[in-house]
Amino acid sequence: MRIARFTTGDDPAYGLVDATGTKIAEITGDPLYTKIELTGTTHAVEDVRLLAPVIPRSKVIGIGRNYADHAAEMGNEAPAEPLMFLIPNTAVVGPGDPVVIPPLTSEVSYEGELAVVIGRLCKDVEPEEVSKVIFGYTCANDVTARDLQRGDGQWARAKGMDTFCPLGPWIETDLDPSRLSLVTRLDGEVVQDGTTADLVHGVAALVSYASRAFTLLPGDVILTGTPAGVGPVVAGQRVEVEIEDIGVLSNPFVAR
Ligand code: MG
Repeated sequence: MRIARFTTGDDPAYGLVDATGTKIAEITGDPLYTKIELTGTTHAVEDVRLLAPVIPRSKVIGIGRNYADHAAEMGNEAPAEPLMFLIPNTAVVGPGDPVVIPPLTSEVSYEGELAVVIGRLCKDVEPEEVSKVIFGYTCANDVTARDLQRGDGQWARAKGMDTFCPLGPWIETDLDPSRLSLVTRLDGEVVQDGTTADLVHGVAALVSYASRAFTLLPGDVILTGTPAGVGPVVAGQRVEVEIEDIGVLSNPFVAR
């Protein structure tokens, strides 16, 4: 299933998006917590505003340097163990929402990534049990202020500023994440062209590893890292992250 969160002007609602990505069938509640039941109302996707498909209840966990080609382009080795960081949920925005570049930074980069959405409260999950705690997958842009990342020595400001974590366009719940093409476009030009087959630490390993440090809650999100090809994005440009069998996450960048 493809589960979207959307608004027609009223309170946010959830719905199931059809295979063509053009129709949305509204459901009664938040599918993370309630059984999926259709309300009987359907909309054309173009007539609604899609929202971030999930607002993480407690955290977005980022993973750094998890593709060898990206680690190399930044002058690093891929780490032997996953390199985790945290992004506050106030950084999350949805498809089409502007990423707002604040005056704090003059060097912002896009990072197209596969995002894992957790479905159950869990802790110390064995890798072979991870599929039981995953709700689904969506696209993410791990927007990064590269100058702050270098200058601060840790990544809280660089990756955690308001609007720096676009998620969407919806959550795909039936997906094998092991070999998905991941393409990022900057103003329509392909700038990242990778595959999740190249993840240094795969989804099961990442979720298990994160769960040894943190209790994971329904709606928590784990970003899995970005392939090579990161680069600058400035106000007035648009970044699209497209992942095979999920869809396209598209966001304009603006200056504050
Ligand atoms: Mg990243």
